[in-house]
Amino acid sequence: MNKKKYCLYCATPLIIKYIEGKNRFFCPSCQEPFYENPVPVAACVVFNENHEVLLVKRSVEPKKGEWCLPGGFVELEEEPEQAALRELKEETGLKGRNIHLLTVLTAESKRYTSVLMIGYLIDQVQGTIMAGYDSEEAAYFKLKEIPVLAFRSHRLILAKAMEIREKGFPQN
Ligand SMILES: [Zn+2]
Repeated sequence: MNKKKYCLYCATPLIIKYIEGKNRFFCPSCQEPFYENPVPVAACVVFNENHEVLLVKRSVEPKKGEWCLPGGFVELEEEPEQAALRELKEETGLKGRNIHLLTVLTAESKRYTSVLMIGYLIDQVQGTIMAGYDSEEAAYFKLKEIPVLAFRSHRLILAKAMEIREKGFPQN
């Protein structure tokens, strides 16, 4: 990962300072620490009527050429659900409806150190599959024929989706 070197606001070189139990980047001119947080990412699980799961082949790094769940970064002022549906549309051409939260977990990331992965199950999709931005292919796979997914967090989200398909969402 590229380390931060300069203050985003005043371009002063950052120093490391021990604040609230951790070494953090600190701007000696602004007198402000830079708190770092995981970057939020939404990922979608979509099954078709044949119980196959929708995957996309990545056309960008990291893990270019490998298959994963459709998904991407949550933008500013966007609900995570909107991000999931937007990324689904961008990467597969499909419009999703009936979205359910599956799980939230922190995953390692080379570039961001860690990402907050928000997994959704999408019950209904409309349209024709068409690969798009960030994906060179989109296709449904039989569960027995799924390639190893590019990210461990996606494998965990898919496992959760399969468990919920079998047992239903937990009741309160
Ligand atoms: Zn500064």
